Amino acid sequence: MSRFLSGALSGLTPYTPGEQPQDQNYVKLNTNESPYPPSPGVLAALNEREGAALRLYSDPTARELKAALARRYGVEPDNVYVGNGSDEALNFAFLAYATDGRGAAFADITYGFYPVFCDLYHIPTRIVPLRADFTLDPGDYHGLGRTIVIANPNAPTGLALSRDQVEGIVRTNPDSVVIIDEAYVDFGGESCVPLTRTYPNLLVVQTYSKSRSMAGARLGYAIGDAALIRDLETVKFSTNPYNVNRLTLRAGVAALAEQSYYDGNCEKIMETRAYTTRELEKLGFTVLPSRANFIFAKKDGVDGGALYRGLKERGVLVRHFDKERIRDYNRITIGTREQMDIFLEKVKELL
Ligand SMILES: *Cc1c(COP(=O)(O)O)cnc(C)c1O
Repeated sequence: MSRFLSGALSGLTPYTPGEQPQDQNYVKLNTNESPYPPSPGVLAALNEREGAALRLYSDPTARELKAALARRYGVEPDNVYVGNGSDEALNFAFLAYATDGRGAAFADITYGFYPVFCDLYHIPTRIVPLRADFTLDPGDYHGLGRTIVIANPNAPTGLALSRDQVEGIVRTNPDSVVIIDEAYVDFGGESCVPLTRTYPNLLVVQTYSKSRSMAGARLGYAIGDAALIRDLETVKFSTNPYNVNRLTLRAGVAALAEQSYYDGNCEKIMETRAYTTRELEKLGFTVLPSRANFIFAKKDGVDGGALYRGLKERGVLVRHFDKERIRDYNRITIGTREQMDIFLEKVKELL
């Protein structure tokens, strides 16, 4: 750090994204991207005319995309916020709802960005440990009285809460915002978007990065009560009014017109997930029952870090977290069946 850095930022440990090697020689199963390309309409939307239009700013109100998302989810456009990846929507929500010393609560094993936002904004955090089997006890969150953030399905475990379980948390915290991060909901989770019509304190965050094959386009959105959405817009217009670029806005609308293509991809990924789980279990692995596009697996007597490194040497990237409770595990993104067969072959070699 330079000697000019604000004291408020010194000591900050930033989020560490998964490796993005620039050579394409890896079977890349480490950052939960989709193995399938965006739909044809998305590719067609990124045409020369749109390229030429880049001289103009993007629509700061994202009118067309908000309208399309509202139709897709059965809400009104003023119930929709769109952002530069869901990380940005989460960032703004932490800033809007957990600063002022109010604090945030989330699990000990969950998305690694939540503690970083708390660090950045000096938000007091309450870390709520998951049970020994990594399931979340909804009762731990009843009547907490502070901003609650839950990834559902959770990362990196892949375990999910039912909508009823989430509703209990939202209902018993009427004076706090409950943020449900549904980055993986399209792979078998139960979405809480329908609850946003009943509960003004519920904010549901989703992304185009996983199920819609657009991680590189950076597009996320939040759905909730119009007053919550206005709060996020206030933060956006105070930082970066053109937060979503023109090409991404176009691509986002085009993707919604081809929902069945993405549903088909999610089906394939869920089938490949079941296949990979079975094969790993045959090899003696413990695999948590996943509702996401990744699995979380370990094998007794096998060091998780060593497995990660061995796979990397053999050209397969998975994600290992050097964190106490989960050091034995690796998080493995579900790719194509062919990619998973290469992964399984390399695992067999290493055992
Ligand atoms: C991938 C992921 C995100 C971030 O997604 P972007 O939209 O790419 O910023 C948010 N939350 C969780 C739990 C994720 O795994």
